[in-house]
Amino acid sequence: MAKILVTGGAGFIGSHVCKYLAAHAYEVVVYDNLSTGHREMVRWGAFEHGDVRDDARLRSVLRKHKPDALIHFASSISVGESVQDPGAYYDNNVLGSLRIMQVLAQEGVRPLVASGSAAVYGLPESVPVAETARTAPINPYGRTKLVMEWMLEDFARAHGLPWMVLRYFNAAGADPEGETGESHDPETHLIPNVLKAVRFPKERQVALFGDDYPTADGTCIRDYIHVMDLASAHVLACEHLLQGKASQSVNLGTGHGFSVREIVDAAERVTGRKVPYVIKARRDGDPARLVADPSKARELLGWQTRYSDIETILRTAWAWEQKKVQ
Ligand code: UDP
Repeated sequence: MAKILVTGGAGFIGSHVCKYLAAHAYEVVVYDNLSTGHREMVRWGAFEHGDVRDDARLRSVLRKHKPDALIHFASSISVGESVQDPGAYYDNNVLGSLRIMQVLAQEGVRPLVASGSAAVYGLPESVPVAETARTAPINPYGRTKLVMEWMLEDFARAHGLPWMVLRYFNAAGADPEGETGESHDPETHLIPNVLKAVRFPKERQVALFGDDYPTADGTCIRDYIHVMDLASAHVLACEHLLQGKASQSVNLGTGHGFSVREIVDAAERVTGRKVPYVIKARRDGDPARLVADPSKARELLGWQTRYSDIETILRTAWAWEQKKVQ
């Protein structure tokens, strides 16, 4: 049974990946500093408290558990925050990834699957966006993810480190069995904010950022991918690398876009309630359209989505949202 060390395994995507790994007979070790993750979401393996920038701690955890592969999620994820405090993003995301690569180069390289982002494409010239599209991130968050990819290429060349970066479009939804889900504070993502507005209509309207984009209804179009489908892709990526196959970056999305207004409409259908919203100004740096070309993930990894229809995304996210204590 292969053993996988999951950095950031106490977070949103990481906890779903741990559950999926455990269900597919992998042994899981979570490495997380709990700065944004949740101890109670570590339920599918051992827990080691630690920061990815702490190379001594990382080295001792690697020596103790001897994982066959690593999946690296531990990073900061808010675009807005990265603009306000770029140093914190370069520190956590770039230095953190670098430390992992350095420790692996010293302790013995093994496959490293890392969470990337569609933010590396910046404002894409056309959609759907394939991996061959120009990478031109427009904010520090996206730049940190691109620097990580460059470092991986260099470590692969110099040290033979096998790697795969999965460039997520919009991660959404929650575990269909309700055991884990999305809990960010503050929450910046559209779907949880829409559902919070449904749940607490008196206290919080959701702000829709811009209705003057050059799209059919004026709101931005995104490609929402269910977190459990992301999870299966990570496991396929690990298997791909453990079989000695080529290192590369791969998009994860559905290939279908939904506008912000379409999300609001779908949330009303799924919850049976009104979404109280207000139209606000555009948010800086939001491309009008961001939709993946996911052909590479399908062809290379044999990846198929099971949960990424918009109703299932919203239904599972809504079930999770209602479980939260507020
Ligand atoms: N959005 C919005 N209100 C919110 C959060 C997001 O209108 O409270 C919009 C945002 O401008 C973008 C889309 O919803 O067009 C998805 O944003 P999100 O932050 O969920 O993900 P991103 O696309 O930035 O990764």
